[in-house]
Amino acid sequence: MSRGPRNLERAALEHRLRIARRDAEFLIQRLRISSPPVDPVQIARSERKHLRLCCGDYGSAFDGRLEYHSSKRRFVCFYNTKYDRALTDGHAPRTRFSLAHELGHYFIEDHHDYLRSGGKSHGSRSEFMASMPIEQQADCFAAHLLMPDPLVKSIVNQDDLSIGLITEVADTFKTSFLSASLRTVEVSHFCGAIVAVRDGEIAWTRRSDPLIEQRIYPGEKGPLRSKAAQAAWTEYLNGANVIAKRGGWARDWFLMYDDDLAQRLSVTESYLPARVMDTMIVVLSIPEDELCDGDED
Ligand SMILES: [Zn+2]
Repeated sequence: MSRGPRNLERAALEHRLRIARRDAEFLIQRLRISSPPVDPVQIARSERKHLRLCCGDYGSAFDGRLEYHSSKRRFVCFYNTKYDRALTDGHAPRTRFSLAHELGHYFIEDHHDYLRSGGKSHGSRSEFMASMPIEQQADCFAAHLLMPDPLVKSIVNQDDLSIGLITEVADTFKTSFLSASLRTVEVSHFCGAIVAVRDGEIAWTRRSDPLIEQRIYPGEKGPLRSKAAQAAWTEYLNGANVIAKRGGWARDWFLMYDDDLAQRLSVTESYLPARVMDTMIVVLSIPEDELCDGDED
């Protein structure tokens, strides 16, 4: 595929994600939700005239599914509670995310209209597993509904990116570590990134906005270049549940066009095994003072 169509696809997806963020944040304002955790069941109930909930342990069939029943002129939202098996009450983070994802299909106008006009329902697998644009849009809606900007920013911007900070976000908002890490890096005013490592290779990177202001960009996917991360990956393969954080070099993770900065800029690497996804998550944090030194040169 040429570069043009790919850019157009990217722009179309960005447009969809902007709508998802806007719709989720608007709903939070309209319902006057001002403290975490956000309860997607309550949000669904606020639409009870038009939307019925139907939860159950649907095994591996799907995580969620939204259907429009024209004879009753209402939507039915199925969501899978298989992730709640170990709980005595309440919903697990993944169940909450599945329901919030289906609410995305209900509240985003295009999805809602498509189903109402006879469009086919689909079983969703949520939490950032899907590649289809409408699924990514519903995932984005879910992440912003469960972790709205005004509530999440006040916690995230207390400190540098770290596993401890992301765990605090996940615990406060009752989300998975993965969802919390993506939202944390999205709103952080500190320089850092989240990297997913699978099969010993970088699968994807998400960076905070201040990095782009410093003209530091996510590096290539592919083999790990950081020696410290290679050692951490070996520990991961050997079954470690806790891996100590280490110092490394920003150039192993990022593209920089300032050679001096690339030579000297260090990074703190923290590692978290996420075995349900066969992934090791790496949280990268860049010390602000090292970037300031560069500015003064
Ligand atoms: Zn879906």
